[in-house]
Amino acid sequence: MKDCVFCKIVAGEIPSGKVYEDGEMLVFRDIAPLAKIHLLCVPKEHFAYLTEADDRRAALLGKMLQKIAGKKDEWGLSEGYRLVINQGDNAGQTVKHLHIHVLGGEALPWEK
Ligand code: 5GP
Ligand code: ZN
Repeated sequence: MKDCVFCKIVAGEIPSGKVYEDGEMLVFRDIAPLAKIHLLCVPKEHFAYLTEADDRRAALLGKMLQKIAGKKDEWGLSEGYRLVINQGDNAGQTVKHLHIHVLGGEALPWEK
């Protein structure tokens, strides 16, 4: 989608610290990390909200979770990690391309 920063990263138009890619998803380092390890896992297809997830997208979201779990040791998350999906303005969603934050590499404080 035009003017979407994550679509530009998916298209290779903006560099990112890519850690994993396949035909359906991309995982890269957050530009402003909020933890020692802060990755973003995005579907290659642009959509913003979980309410837009039909069965195919829901299956892809499941694959993204499965991939994160399978790669956790490789990504330095063997001691635990936190997944966050911000949805909408009250959650502080700034990029309207659905993404899973993957946080870890240290003990994480729990803040609202
Ligand atoms: P949100 O607040 O929408 O849940 O999270 C968006 C995240 O995308 C933020 O943590 C922000 O640091 C990250 N981000 C925004 N622009 C870029 C970029 O150009 N490259 C990378 N790697 N991360 C970005
Ligand atoms: Zn997008």
